[in-house]
Amino acid sequence: MKNYLDKQWQEVLEGFEGRISAVGLDLWIKKLKPIHMHDDCLVIVAPNEMTRDTVLRTYLDTLNELVKKSFKLDKVEFILQSECDEYIEKNNLMQTEGDEPLPEVMQHETVHKNPFNPKYTFENFVVGTTNQMIYAAARAVAEHPVVRFNPLFIYGGSGLGKTHLLHAIGNFVWERKKGNIKIVYVTCEQFANDFYELLQHSREKGMAEFRSKYRLADIILIDDIQFIGGKDKLQEEFFHTFNDLFQHGKQIIISSDRPPKEITTLEERLSSRFSSGLIQEIQQPDLETRMMIIRKKIELEGYQFDETIIPVLAERLERFNIREIEGVLSKIYFYANLHGKPVVDLAIAEEMLQKSHELDVSVGRVVTSDKIIEAVCRKMNVTREEVLGKKRNKELVEPRQICIYLMWKNLNIPMSTIGKIFNRDHTTAIHARDKINDLIKSNKEMKKLISDIEALINK
Ligand code: ADP
Ligand code: MG
Repeated sequence: MKNYLDKQWQEVLEGFEGRISAVGLDLWIKKLKPIHMHDDCLVIVAPNEMTRDTVLRTYLDTLNELVKKSFKLDKVEFILQSECDEYIEKNNLMQTEGDEPLPEVMQHETVHKNPFNPKYTFENFVVGTTNQMIYAAARAVAEHPVVRFNPLFIYGGSGLGKTHLLHAIGNFVWERKKGNIKIVYVTCEQFANDFYELLQHSREKGMAEFRSKYRLADIILIDDIQFIGGKDKLQEEFFHTFNDLFQHGKQIIISSDRPPKEITTLEERLSSRFSSGLIQEIQQPDLETRMMIIRKKIELEGYQFDETIIPVLAERLERFNIREIEGVLSKIYFYANLHGKPVVDLAIAEEMLQKSHELDVSVGRVVTSDKIIEAVCRKMNVTREEVLGKKRNKELVEPRQICIYLMWKNLNIPMSTIGKIFNRDHTTAIHARDKINDLIKSNKEMKKLISDIEALINK
């Protein structure tokens, strides 16, 4: 029976050739496997809902026609890979010896482990007025990929939950589809690294590998796309990958620290695509949202905080992003514990906040080392990892020195502490500070650059 199915199915595949694009054939039709015939119907296994729906939407007429010709059957019926075992059992489709095993479409995908951060789920994402729109959009995309917003473009400042949401979509889809859908998460940096690395080996082989990694995704999540700015070759490849996925009805979700129109080249090339999707900002949390976030973090981390200090803290932490709020909470908690207080109360929290040089809350001006790094990275097109890392190329040394200079100027902390942030000793930090300090005096461009960055920090 199996051989018969396979043989006739081969005719169906051949019938498709030349009638649809080669990519369509590879991506959708070749992923199908016939499993059973009953009455006037051919039962076909699809690896996932997306494949099934695409075939139903786009290729059904051709499929019906070819099945009729080759199997002499009038109808096709689909089941999903995940329902396959049950179907086999229910219909008593025992395998006879010598038969090939029953179809295991994309089996290698199912054994993979969930690659997403288990903490970054929709359940752990606090929804307030400042992020409810983006939450709803992300949720809709996770529940109905492609059908709702494609592409979905999420932008907003650092530490506001972009990566969290991308992982939440990943976790959600993963749990539901049990790995039967190919979902790829990639940071722009990783995308770039893969691209350049593969090109170094053999151009042809490299490109083929690169493409199959990204272009066979059903859903692709791209984090921090802003780093694509200024990298021509990469933009080119990204554009092709994006187009390819989009044309094949795949879901694309992108995050960025700025709206598409501020990544000029990207916007120009993809603007028509963006218009079919949704571009949504994720905003700084308001007071009420900050309170909810503080409560949630305390609950998740198992901290003991006196309830009365929550509104006070929420008020104090205005202009802090969520990553910084998490940092402050953990610092306060450890500080309290260090001073023999298992439950954090207002007095000890105040004491800690007073002592922390980084949190200059008393004057309402909140400049942190994090904000300085973020602004420098943004202005100079480098990543946080690069600035904090070991590499010493010129493109990285200068942003690093500027960070050090700005920390010295804006944060009331010792040079040795600044050095530690960059894993360097205080003489290196002092050298960096002096160098930039001198440059500002002699070089107009440097002066302008520094004032632009400072404007960004204080925005
Ligand atoms: P981004 O990618 O925008 O820089 P992240 O997604 O990395 O920010 O978020 C920084 C931290 O803040 C993470 O630990 C994340 O879990 C947390 N966070 C962000 N937004 C929320 C939210 N709405 N509810 C709960 N935690 C959040
Ligand atoms: Mg992020």
